[in-house]
Amino acid sequence: MISIVLVEDDRQIRRFVKTVLEAEGYHVIESENGKSGLQDAANRKPDLLILDLGLPDMDGMEVISRLREWSQIPIIVLSARSEESGKIDALDAGADDYLTKPFGTGELLARIRAALRRKSIVSMDTGSLFEVGGLCIDLEKRRVMLDASEIHLTPIEYRLLSVLARNAGKVLTHRHLLKEVWGPSHVEHAHYLRIYMGQLRHKLEKEPANPRYLLTETGVGYRLAAE
Ligand code: CA
Repeated sequence: MISIVLVEDDRQIRRFVKTVLEAEGYHVIESENGKSGLQDAANRKPDLLILDLGLPDMDGMEVISRLREWSQIPIIVLSARSEESGKIDALDAGADDYLTKPFGTGELLARIRAALRRKSIVSMDTGSLFEVGGLCIDLEKRRVMLDASEIHLTPIEYRLLSVLARNAGKVLTHRHLLKEVWGPSHVEHAHYLRIYMGQLRHKLEKEPANPRYLLTETGVGYRLAAE
């Protein structure tokens, strides 16, 4: 059974999320503050952690950085803060995804499935195949197929797509992508990303302006659709 630690001090939200998750067959461990959340993450060995950022005893950001010192467990942040900087900070600190309250249950469940799926891809050997819809990326052979025909990408385009594919479903910040693809000295060059994302969409999307695979998270970054 898949177990999820739910760190949320608001009792009503906690109960609601717990009910939704249990109906889907997940086992839920409730924590009402950051300290007990960290303890539960260490002792109960959950598969995923859902974390409210506004906690009574410590900032959720601190929970993320402490957890990331020893654990790669997927973290989905629930945030009442609609400011984009808060989301970016949480993602850069190591969170996998975020939802802004109020969120829909369908959205929450989709994010959980994506995070768990990614966890299983990461734990596989390097020769992994990523598939979503008609898009197939062979990360071992460095081949990209779209609706069964091979797509030729430039080295930078491929690198960008492979970083997104290894993290499919996860929002990657502009800064993170620039660092992974172009290197640490280029993290401010957001226009590189716009140009290459445009090129990738042109090659991979039927409607580049209304993408199916390469999704924009406005003001934050990009994600590759995981389902
Ligand atoms: Ca709260």
